[in-house]
Amino acid sequence: MTTRPWNFAAGPSTLPLEVLQQAAADLCDWQGSGTSVMEMSHRGKHYSRIRDEAEADLRTLLAVPDDFEVLFMQGGASAQNALIPLNLIGRGGLGRADYVLSGHWARKSFNEAKRYGDIAVAATAESSVELDGRTYGSWCWMPAQDQWHVRPDAAYLHLCANETIGGVEQAVMPDMADLGAPDVPLVADMSSNILSRPIDFSRLGVVYAGAQKNAGPAGVTLVFVRKDLIGHAQPHCPSVFDYAPVAGAQSMFNTPPTFAIYMAGLVFKWLLKHGGVSAMDAASARKSRTLYDYLDGSALYENRIHPAVRSRMNVPFFLRDESLNATFLAESESAGLLALKGHKAVGGMRASLYNAMPLQGVQALIGFLQDFEARHG
Ligand SMILES: *Cc1c(COP(=O)(O)O)cnc(C)c1O
Repeated sequence: MTTRPWNFAAGPSTLPLEVLQQAAADLCDWQGSGTSVMEMSHRGKHYSRIRDEAEADLRTLLAVPDDFEVLFMQGGASAQNALIPLNLIGRGGLGRADYVLSGHWARKSFNEAKRYGDIAVAATAESSVELDGRTYGSWCWMPAQDQWHVRPDAAYLHLCANETIGGVEQAVMPDMADLGAPDVPLVADMSSNILSRPIDFSRLGVVYAGAQKNAGPAGVTLVFVRKDLIGHAQPHCPSVFDYAPVAGAQSMFNTPPTFAIYMAGLVFKWLLKHGGVSAMDAASARKSRTLYDYLDGSALYENRIHPAVRSRMNVPFFLRDESLNATFLAESESAGLLALKGHKAVGGMRASLYNAMPLQGVQALIGFLQDFEARHG
């Protein structure tokens, strides 16, 4: 077995080695078909099997109920930021939607939606706040769900379940009835925590996720839509982006990103083989707790996110002496720990702990952090 460096990239991000090896073995000749997956008709019998198994495995992994369509789309989560309002905001002539602002990605979704209707903020963590005797900065905390203001006649409420840049995760999806808006469907961007924990679809109308964080390579976007929310697109919504014809054609309204779907399908099979979402849930809790506990106990490093909403997927941290940043990055890379540089909007460092990153990788990171602190702290 090849040994590889540990890749902590936020996305595109590390994939299971077994998946890459399977893809390599299949690359020029998929299972005796004489062609690569890239060369097959998306309507042929081989590819139909690949696509159908990918959807079936994804449904099994997340226990997706029958009243949800699973769509494989293109354009990434960024396209969905427009497609959510284009498909949903006109439902029943409502024309309005509410957004929870938890960080950079939620704000991007909000800004895009403003082009399509009357968009309001239901809650925001943009300001800093005093909580439990400490000050938490912009995007480092979350307003409690009982303080969100949702218009009961909004077409939907949007939230980002995991802020990949900021490192804030909302583990529990709100019950819309508790928010005084029982008829408002909840829409969640789960790009960076999909498949890391179970999803309570009874609380959701739409879930979307670009694959390249936790589900496969870039190029395919997973969209789960409750069936009653399909068929309300604006007249000017492009057909390839209207959920109704896409669902009606089993995501083959036009040529789908066949190779990306095949790769995601291999990831789904790998997940099933390794215990499914419940095993990933437990592993995510353990990996992230191990790293946060170390950071909290160290004199050199710090994580600035309120403990109740710390992401299990993306762990941003800072060196208290920022003049050591360049040395830290150079030494960590030489030690086989890749892509620890934080997003430019936040600075510092960030370690992404997706499903394909084992506890062993987190322990290697902590070993390096200790050694670096011993030499520079
Ligand atoms: C990466 C990311 C996006 C953007 O995804 P693209 O595929 O680049 O459009 C949106 N939301 C979240 C939470 C992300 O992590």
